[in-house]
Parts: sequence; C-alpha cells; structure tokens
Amino acid sequence: MKILFASPEMVPFAKTGGLADVSGALPKAIEKLGEDVTVIMPKYQAVDEKKNTLEDTGKKISVPISNRIKEAKIYKGYINSQQSAVGSRQSKIPIYFIDKKEYYDRPYLYGTPQGDYPDNAERFIFFSRAILETCKTIGLKPDVIHCNDWQTGMVPVYLKTIYKDDPYLKDTATLFTVHNLGYQGLFWHLDMHLTNLGWDIFNPEGIEFYGKMNILKGGLVYSDIITTVSRTYSHEIQTKEYGCGLDGVLRKRKDDLYGVLNGIDYEEWNPATDKYIAAKYLKENLSGKWECKKDLLKIYGLKPSKEIPVLSVISRLADQKGFNLVAEIVNELMELDIQFVLLGTGEEKYHKLFEEIGKKYPSKAGIKIGFDNALAHKIEAGADMFLMPSRYEPCGLNQLYSLKYGTIPIVRATGGLNDTVENYNPVTKNGNGFKFAEYSSTALFSAIKTAIDFHKNKTQWNRIMMNAMGEDFSWSHSAREYVELYRKVINKRTKT
Ligand code: ADP
Repeated sequence: MKILFASPEMVPFAKTGGLADVSGALPKAIEKLGEDVTVIMPKYQAVDEKKNTLEDTGKKISVPISNRIKEAKIYKGYINSQQSAVGSRQSKIPIYFIDKKEYYDRPYLYGTPQGDYPDNAERFIFFSRAILETCKTIGLKPDVIHCNDWQTGMVPVYLKTIYKDDPYLKDTATLFTVHNLGYQGLFWHLDMHLTNLGWDIFNPEGIEFYGKMNILKGGLVYSDIITTVSRTYSHEIQTKEYGCGLDGVLRKRKDDLYGVLNGIDYEEWNPATDKYIAAKYLKENLSGKWECKKDLLKIYGLKPSKEIPVLSVISRLADQKGFNLVAEIVNELMELDIQFVLLGTGEEKYHKLFEEIGKKYPSKAGIKIGFDNALAHKIEAGADMFLMPSRYEPCGLNQLYSLKYGTIPIVRATGGLNDTVENYNPVTKNGNGFKFAEYSSTALFSAIKTAIDFHKNKTQWNRIMMNAMGEDFSWSHSAREYVELYRKVINKRTKT
C-alpha cells in the first residue's frame, strides 16, 4: 500500500508536543512492516535545511486560496529507518516539505506565547490543499492519506468535494487521527472563502459548528475512518463530558471510530542507550539511575538523597494537564518529604504559579520554564516519580517514557493514562504505577501519598520499577493495527 502521512509537526524537524513524537516514529514502524510510506509537513523556520540535508526539488505547486493563487516550493528529505522488514537494509522514507515563507517562516508553529497566529485558518487550509497538489506534482498516488489533527482536516473535505472526480486522487482514501479533540481549528464563518468551497457544506452536517467554521469537524465528517490515540479516549470523546461539543458527530460515526494506542520510539527513549543522560542503565542493573538523579538535582540546585523521592513534571502548562489540582495542594505537597522538579511551558498563570513555588521552597522545588528536550530526558532518568493528573489525556507519552526509565507514574485514570498505567497491588505484586479516578485535589494528594509510602519500602518499590521497566509500548503492535485499518479503508473506498 502507498501511504501518505500528513502531519503539522514531526520529530526531529519541528515539535510542540506528542504529535511530533508520533509522527516521527509511526511512519518508520509502518515502513518496517513493508508498506510504502511518504511523509509531508510544512517547512517551518525550525526545520533546519542543512542539518537535515533537505533539497529543493525545483518543483512548485499553485494553490487557490480565495480569489488568489498562491505558489509554494517543495523540498525533500529522508527519514532513516533501520532494520526494515525488507531484509536488513537501511531504508529511507521520503519526506516532503511545503515551503511557503509567508505562512511558515515564523519563530513558532501555531502561535506566540501571546496567542495563536491570526491567519491560522489560511495557513492550514493552504497546507491541506498543498498536500493534494503536491501529490499531483511529484507523481504520488496514495492509496491512503493518513491525516493528523485539525491542521490536516481539510484534506478529507477536499477529497470528497473539489477533488472527488480528480483522475489522480479520486480513489484516495483518508484515515483521520484525532490526537487531541480540544484543538479544533475553529474560525469565524467569513473565513469560508479561503477554502474555495461553497456554502452548501457550511451546515451542521458539514463543517459548521454553531455558526463557526470547524476544520477538525471537517476531518471527522468527511474522512473514511477516524482513529484516536487510545481505547479509553475513543469512548470518552463520544460523551458530553469529553466530547468538546463534537460528541454527537463522533457518536454518529462510531462504527468508523477506532482507538489505537500510541507507541513510543525506544530508539529515542531508552535508559540503556539515551545519549542525553549522565549514566546509562538497565532493568537488570539500576546503578546508573542514581548517577542520573545526582546529575538532575545538580541542574536544579537541589541536594540528592536516596531516601527522598523526586516527583517530576514535564508538560505543556495547560488546564488540560490538571495543574489547577496541583495548585490547590501545592503547599501540603511541599510539607511532605519529597523534592519536586518541573520543566514546562504554556499558560502564563502556570508560569507564575510554579515560579512562586520555586522561590518559596528553594531547597525542595526546582522549576524550569521552557522547552528543553535534553533536560526532558534527564528528568525521565533522574526522577523517581512522574506526575500526570490530567483532566483529559488522549494518550499521553510521558507516562510511557517514565515507565521505561523506572520513573513511576502517578496519573489520573483518563484516556491513555487509564489504558497504560495499572495501580500497584502489593498482594499480587502486579501494577506499574499509581492512579486516581476523581478529578479532585484530594484524590490526587492521596495517590501521591500512597506512592511516597511505597517508596519507603525498597523491596516493593523495586518491584514496581521492574514491572514498569518490563512493559513494552513499542510501535510494532499499534503499527500493525494501523496497517489493518489502511486495508479496511481501501476496501471500504473501493466498495463505495
Ligand atoms: P501533549 O502532546 O498533550 O503535549 P504528550 O504527553 O502526548 O502531551 O507529549 C508531550 C511530549 O512533549 C513529550 O515528548 C514530552 O517530553 C514533550 N514535552 C512537553 N513539554 C516539554 C518541555 N517543556 N520541554 C521538553 N519536552 C517537552
């Protein structure tokens, strides 16, 4: 099968969150299963042309946006995929970049800390249509376009409207993955002219959402198959509580909606090989983890102790992640015999909150506001516990990294956190972490205290670490599920 994987962000080129990690790893895992994968994304300022040896293909596309024709250049690079299914050769996945400086040559991907870029509708309507025009220009006829999040939501819409009789793309099917239903690409109705589509699709059955244009909804309504990134989240989003106003649309499409758990890239996140950490370690020999803890606490200006657990956070600082709960109990938390390290960036109110905590408890709390991949690896390796009290969490990757590094996750039982973290049971000795159900600071505090109590018992704690580090959340299983869905969607398309 010929798969085109379209994403607004991807490791190692440009990243704001988990979608970039998924986009960096999943195409490689699919290619390893013998499928023919190509990737496409915007050429942002962050995309380093020299380091990634990108070349200008010399090809150009022309994309209609309202009553204008906008041109863009197409760059090409390769992603190395090791141990391909096709013998042991090292294969290369082609990746195309849409080079449109007016839209993408900016310091951030979607907006500055002050807010979203005001022309995001135009930037990503353009991207969606540019994906289709690029196919035609480079001679790629995909069986399936795998779209990711609202920024690619217009691809399914265009394939079922403007391109439905296009000799080149009329048989192309779409699989649309929702990585986070909270980000919908919601714009005022007068941006409709940018799509070059008629008002006939602007209704509640199409892309209208209470008088506005909702691009994510376009993806949900017009794609052939919808997936989201964990089983639990696929059920949650069909409810009013988690559906962000789109639960009705999702219920309507429930027969085409699948939950496929994200995997993680153990080439990037593995304490046995991690190039960022102070000492490598294995499940069988944990001595390096202590070196990592010392290194981490030195960076944060805290004193290391084997007895005191380090509770850590790496996160976008957004309401979704449950920081209002942390805010409610932070003083009691600091009374406990723990140390706290945080790396994050996001909403201003949380920057302030955590900076104040850092000042108030200088010997217990270390706070770094910012985005720092190397430090994220050091935290995973050096901390003892990892906190994710999310209000909702489509999949969550950090708890999966934490498991691999023996850094025990304390999570709220929602979405992918629910599917990947099992409460430790001292009787059966099963379980890999601690979770709580109710979205309340009392429930959170109680889960943290339980974890701290278990940490005092070295035998029990060691058992939890072994359980955690023994888990396998590699992509191989989930990539197979995607390949099956690609087959399904192609069959579905040929039947209609
Ligand atoms: P989301 O996509 O909702 O932000 P995920 O847990 O799925 O959450 O993925 C977050 C990814 O972004 C992880 O790889 C995590 O390590 C990374 N990350 C988040 N915040 C930071 C930060 N401040 N510095 C470095 N990496 C970060």
